[in-house]
Amino acid sequence: MAPPSRNSHTLKASKVSRASASSKKSRNGFIDVSVAIRNGMPHWPDNPAIVVERVMDLEKGHPATVSKISLGVHTGTHMDAPSHFLAGTSGIDKMPLDATIGRARVIKIRDPKLVRVKELEKHRIRRGERILLRTRNSPRAWEADHFVEDFVHLTPEAAQWFADRGVRTLGVDYLSVGGFLDGSGESVHHALLKAGIWIIEGLNLSRVPPGPCELVCLPLKLLDGDGAPARAIVRTLGRRAT
Ligand SMILES: [Zn+2]
Repeated sequence: MAPPSRNSHTLKASKVSRASASSKKSRNGFIDVSVAIRNGMPHWPDNPAIVVERVMDLEKGHPATVSKISLGVHTGTHMDAPSHFLAGTSGIDKMPLDATIGRARVIKIRDPKLVRVKELEKHRIRRGERILLRTRNSPRAWEADHFVEDFVHLTPEAAQWFADRGVRTLGVDYLSVGGFLDGSGESVHHALLKAGIWIIEGLNLSRVPPGPCELVCLPLKLLDGDGAPARAIVRTLGRRAT
C-alpha cells in the first residue's frame, strides 16, 4: 500500500489517538478541549509555521531540557482580540476574565458545510450567552496533518445574527470563525468583534455532548496581542440536549 500523500485525508493511528487524548475527562469532570501545540502542526496558510525545538536537552548531556517555540498567535486553540481586525481596539491582555470563565452552551451544528441562521434559530440563544459550536470539524479537521480548506464556518449572516443577539463569547472548532475558500473571514470577524463578542477558535469539541457546560479558557497574557494561544476546558452540566 502506498504511503498517504501529504494532502491525503488518510490518518495514521498515532495522529488519531493524539487528537483524542487531549479530550479525556479529568477526575473533576473537566474535558480538555484544546489542541496540543506541536512542531509542524497545521496552521492558517499565510500565518507562520509552528516550530518547537529543544535548544538544550538532557539526552544530549545538557544540565536541563529547554525548548524554544516559534508560532503565530493564532495557532491551534487560541483567542482573537478585537485588535485582530479592528484598528485601535484592545488587545488580548485586556480581555475580561468573565468572557471565558463560567456557564456556556455547546450547540451541535448538523450542517456539514456552514453555520447558518436557519439552524441557529432553533436554539433560542440569549443575550450574554457563551456559545461553543460543535461542527463536523471536531475531530475531522484536527485529525488531518494539513490545513483543511473546507472546514465548517459561519456565514456573514450568521455572524451578524450572533452580533444582534449580543452573545458574550463564541467558540468554534477550527482555525477561523469565517471561511477560507469563500473569503468570508474578514466580514465574519468584523461583525463579531464590532459587537464585542470574544472569539475562541481552534477548539476540539469532539468529546463534549451538546448542552450546558462550565467553560474555562485562558489565553496567554500577551501585551496588546491581536490574539493568543489558549488552554480551554469544559465540564458538562446536566444532560439536556440542544
Ligand atoms: Zn484567530
